[in-house]
Amino acid sequence: MIIFTSNNLNVLAIIAHPDDLSFFSAGTLARWVEEGHDVNVICCTNGEVGTLRNDLTKEDVAKKREKELRASNNLLGFKETLILEHSDAGFINPAVLRKELVYLVRKYKADRVVTFDPWAKYEVHPDHVVVGRMAAEAGAFAAFPLLYQDQLVDGVDPYACSEIWLMGLLGHYPNAFVDISSTLEKKVNAALKFEATLELLAELFSPNIDPANVSEKQLKKLTRQANSLLRSIASVIGKKAGLEVAEAFYVQKTLPGHFDNFQQLMAEMLGNAPEKPKIY
Ligand SMILES: [Zn+2]
Repeated sequence: MIIFTSNNLNVLAIIAHPDDLSFFSAGTLARWVEEGHDVNVICCTNGEVGTLRNDLTKEDVAKKREKELRASNNLLGFKETLILEHSDAGFINPAVLRKELVYLVRKYKADRVVTFDPWAKYEVHPDHVVVGRMAAEAGAFAAFPLLYQDQLVDGVDPYACSEIWLMGLLGHYPNAFVDISSTLEKKVNAALKFEATLELLAELFSPNIDPANVSEKQLKKLTRQANSLLRSIASVIGKKAGLEVAEAFYVQKTLPGHFDNFQQLMAEMLGNAPEKPKIY
């Protein structure tokens, strides 16, 4: 196994909704925390429409999900959690978001951005696409000193983020698998804090439970199901990489204004096999 560099890295996870890290990357981020890196989280919306219940207002849902997000992030050991309060599923203005995210990449001196793969096939949620795309752009463009010059005050400087880790249902075969055996318990416990997510899982696994009206007993059942779902996803991904449990990513090194993948893309264009995934 390759051990991460001993240099302390600043990791910025940029997501659309409070529960977005739960399935795809919380185990990896928690492992980086264990290894001494700083992880901060930017959540671009409150996730205020992410429920099928109609006995709650958007304000109720926003408050509840923020509480769940902070509890989950505390458990995972993340430093700061910032919510940008764009409208959930309201189509975020990409230009506004990109400027905010460039500022935050500079402010947190983010060496590594973790976000949704905005090029994933069949991704229907506009927030995942816009957030993933703008987060990737922010990582690649924050180094340009003439971009958003008004941000360059009070010790905020251009910053060259060196890697973008794309998560989710990827638009490309994974090129990185991370062993999450030391953090799987934390990942599962953190994910189970998101009640609305558990309720929505009823649609997949418990057709007899109405996700708009889940009793306490039913929530317990859904919690057990989510618990085993998270473990089986981790072990199915792990098997691909010869690990017990893992998360998968498509990692791109960045240069200002680009992903540094010219050789790899050229090789693939010429019909060569994709690079062998790295195991971390
Ligand atoms: Zn989401």
